[in-house]
Amino acid sequence: MRFIDIQQQYQSYKTEIDEAIARVLEKGNFILGEEVAELEEKLAAFVGVKHCLTVSSGTDSLLIALMALGIGPGDEVITTPFTFFATAEVIALIGAKPVFVDIEPNTYNIDIDQIESAITPRTKAIMPVSLFGQMPNYTRINAIAAKYNLPVIEDGAQSFGATQNGKRSCGVTTIGSTSFFPAKPFGCYGDGGALFTDDAELADKMRYIRTHGSQKRDYHPVIGINGRCDTLQAAIMLAKLPFFPQEIEARQKVASAYSERLKEYCTVPFVAQGNTSVYSPYTIRTPNRDQWMKTFSEKDIPVGVYYSKCVYEQPAFSYLGISKGSFAQADFACSEVLSLPLHPWISEEEIDRVVLAVKEAYLGNTVGVTK
Ligand SMILES: *Cc1c(COP(=O)(O)O)cnc(C)c1O
Repeated sequence: MRFIDIQQQYQSYKTEIDEAIARVLEKGNFILGEEVAELEEKLAAFVGVKHCLTVSSGTDSLLIALMALGIGPGDEVITTPFTFFATAEVIALIGAKPVFVDIEPNTYNIDIDQIESAITPRTKAIMPVSLFGQMPNYTRINAIAAKYNLPVIEDGAQSFGATQNGKRSCGVTTIGSTSFFPAKPFGCYGDGGALFTDDAELADKMRYIRTHGSQKRDYHPVIGINGRCDTLQAAIMLAKLPFFPQEIEARQKVASAYSERLKEYCTVPFVAQGNTSVYSPYTIRTPNRDQWMKTFSEKDIPVGVYYSKCVYEQPAFSYLGISKGSFAQADFACSEVLSLPLHPWISEEEIDRVVLAVKEAYLGNTVGVTK
């Protein structure tokens, strides 16, 4: 059993993917080839925004967004402490300060009620994360941002394909950012990411920043990075994109089966009103998480913990001087979350095995049986 089955995905679309790769190899248009432009057009249409730029990773994507907004030393960016390291890392990388706001215990997303009290005159952006495949309420977040004239960047690395009131993740904020890391909902076969916006001026700026701040050959009005997405990766994603909607559906079917069968043993994912989730990853919580991990490992069932520590607890952020326990819900989640194997090719038998293991772990803990 695999936590995410990239190999099986490739086997399913092998012909399309092999042909796409071969075409690029024949043409040799490895950097910003026409496949990149074609993919950007299709992704913009999928998300429902005017502009899409593919980039080198989900991390560079966030970095380019912050750079394009002119954020730098002395500025503050509001985000969540319960996320992958990269979200806070890029804020620090440009010299700004990540300002954390605790999470909601049921969705694990930023607690919107606490955003306003974190805003200061130095705040330059709000960067929520759409964690575990589900968006926080962007109608409410955008309203707060509008009141203080702040841009909103959605870190949609885990939520590409999810919707909120019918609108796709990455299409509802000033800038939407996602990752095509292979294990994400829509992955490429290496590193990749994308930026989405309806703002033509921002799209232009991000495009320059993606190529060393260059507007035309030998002219660099701003400092940028080398942040392009390879043509090969774009070609692979173009081959995979037509199958993405059915993959989302398959993920949601597996998630429903899990939730229905696991809800008496643990807290299953809560999907807020108006949302659909892509369950990336499918995450439950239990007070006996560490004990349960042993049961899964004995049964050879691949599980994951995202995240066992809040980002501010990482040594790299010790300079912020935030003490453990400062964000009660985020800290609590770190001790209880557990992600289960979920991908479109998981079999009924595998689902049965996971459910059985959860049941055993639950009973083991309840009756005090130690293994
Ligand atoms: C994966 C991830 C990133 C970084 O994406 P990469 O493509 O790996 O650079 C950023 N934020 C979140 C929430 C992620 O899950």
